Amino acid sequence: MPSKISRETFIQSIVDLLRKAETELPEDVVDALRKAETAEENDVAKSQLQTILKNIEIAKKHGVPMCQDTGIMIFFAEIGSEFQPGFDIEAAIQEAVILATAKIPLRPNAVDPLSRKNSGNNTGAGIPDIHWKLVPGKHLKITVAPKGAGSENMSSLRMFNPTEIGNIKNFVLETVVNAGGMPCPPLTIGVGIGGSFDAAARLAKEALLEPLDTQMDVLEKEILEAVNALGIGCMGLGGSTTALSVHVKTAYCHTASLPVAVNIQCWANRHASIVFGGEE
Ligand code: SF4
Repeated sequence: MPSKISRETFIQSIVDLLRKAETELPEDVVDALRKAETAEENDVAKSQLQTILKNIEIAKKHGVPMCQDTGIMIFFAEIGSEFQPGFDIEAAIQEAVILATAKIPLRPNAVDPLSRKNSGNNTGAGIPDIHWKLVPGKHLKITVAPKGAGSENMSSLRMFNPTEIGNIKNFVLETVVNAGGMPCPPLTIGVGIGGSFDAAARLAKEALLEPLDTQMDVLEKEILEAVNALGIGCMGLGGSTTALSVHVKTAYCHTASLPVAVNIQCWANRHASIVFGGEE
């Protein structure tokens, strides 16, 4: 996409991006689910994985959301210091979410946290949730990751004592055990270690965007093996694949703290990106 873009074209591109995220899983996620189905020996889990794969195929073919919980809209925006949009990007994203909710359509999920009043259009104070990163360059990269409540509700965060590094793996396992079948496994597990209370949670969510075919390090492999040994399995019905992948992101933290966040993602690991500008 060229960097000189009208507000209308930008809004339409974001509506299209939302449609893609809701109706098509990234190929690396589909591949991981296919591999899990091939390897699965538990008949019930195998048939669940086949149903999930069929569901993904139908959603893509007919351009309909792959799950009834179309999530709340989380955006990651990477903006080049030389990118000049000429309009209010946040307001345009908000307008795109309202349009997408009506057009795709998406379930209106956004409510006031206390009155529980639904805005009816997936927007409201703080929603869509947009995270900005300023980088060198002339481009704007927008990633949307619609997040369902079933998996988000089973995530957790703990402020550890710095001497408890050895307990991190158990904390992830405890989170997965407590979640059981609620977050619709097979999961992708994002772990954020370090930063501050909120930065750890952000790292964990960003970790969910890592391609599933990324080579895992020793800690990630250890956690994945331990999680899959739990036998929770696809949709909590047993089997060998409770999680497809584990990704850990770290940041420096205060010498007196060790924040650890575990963000759980269901099989519907939805995200899509678009880049504007950057070619001049
Ligand atoms: S956890 Fe995921 S797959 Fe399950 S209902 Fe929620 S969005 Fe859908």
